Amino acid sequence: MVHERRRPRFPGGPAMTPNASDSPVYEVFALRYASHYGRRSADNFLGEDPLHMPEMPLDFFVWLIRGQGRTVLVDTGFTPETAVRRGRHYHSHPVDLLGRLGVNANDINDVIVTHMHYDHAGNLAEFPGARIHMQTTEMQYCTGHSMRHPQLRKNYEAVDVAAAVQSLYEGRLHFVDGDAEIAPGISVHLCGGHTKGLQFVTVATARGEIILASDALHYYENIRRNIPFPSFVDLGEYLDGLARIAARAKDLDRIIPGHDPLALTAFPLSQFSSDIAMVHANPVTRLSFEDSPADTADV
Ligand SMILES: [Zn+2]
Repeated sequence: MVHERRRPRFPGGPAMTPNASDSPVYEVFALRYASHYGRRSADNFLGEDPLHMPEMPLDFFVWLIRGQGRTVLVDTGFTPETAVRRGRHYHSHPVDLLGRLGVNANDINDVIVTHMHYDHAGNLAEFPGARIHMQTTEMQYCTGHSMRHPQLRKNYEAVDVAAAVQSLYEGRLHFVDGDAEIAPGISVHLCGGHTKGLQFVTVATARGEIILASDALHYYENIRRNIPFPSFVDLGEYLDGLARIAARAKDLDRIIPGHDPLALTAFPLSQFSSDIAMVHANPVTRLSFEDSPADTADV
């Protein structure tokens, strides 16, 4: 099979504006706290040929942004109890992984919830002092009439939604409508598609802007091949999101997918844990739109 060696074509989208030299920069860490083994590639790509089914595990992450006197957590992961109930392999509690980096839960000033799915928004009670940033549409969706349907609510945990409502009544929930700057050099962007109110996060780092895509794409291959992960509420919005991220990213290595084990092999590991990758650093493996999937299938 011949692959074209060029960047996939996506419609529209602005080019990235480079940071001025005096702009703030942050360290960004991907912390893997759990995994789902036994998956096949057909589970991860819409319309994948079921006969073409190599094993393709899925990792669960939270992300830490640190610098400029700020400590920002992107997503909070799920609990060990949820892991048992849903048959996921739990490596470490996200709070314990933060501890490896010298961060206490009380140090977290801001929690960005990319969306309210169980694997992203559990453990909110562990961060009682943090301001929580969420898209209005996500809160409306996970507390709205669509949750009458078991197949739509199955990726949410009522206890997580209740914790978000609790933070609202404590005056700690900051609603975002669309795109917003959380702090200089850290912004959130409404993306939709996977859920109604998913947001991805852009962060200024020493190597330029990186995009914490969360579940706008689960794997690098979702965006490189422009094939959605088969879990979405609006396919058009999902594809628009891929196009927007592809247009914004300077190259593939500026994107950090929501669930790709490659994050732990493509970027340098922290000296404190083999489950923590330093995604603000230059990758140790080439990740480029210019490569065909076959070129890097074994990385
Ligand atoms: Zn997820």
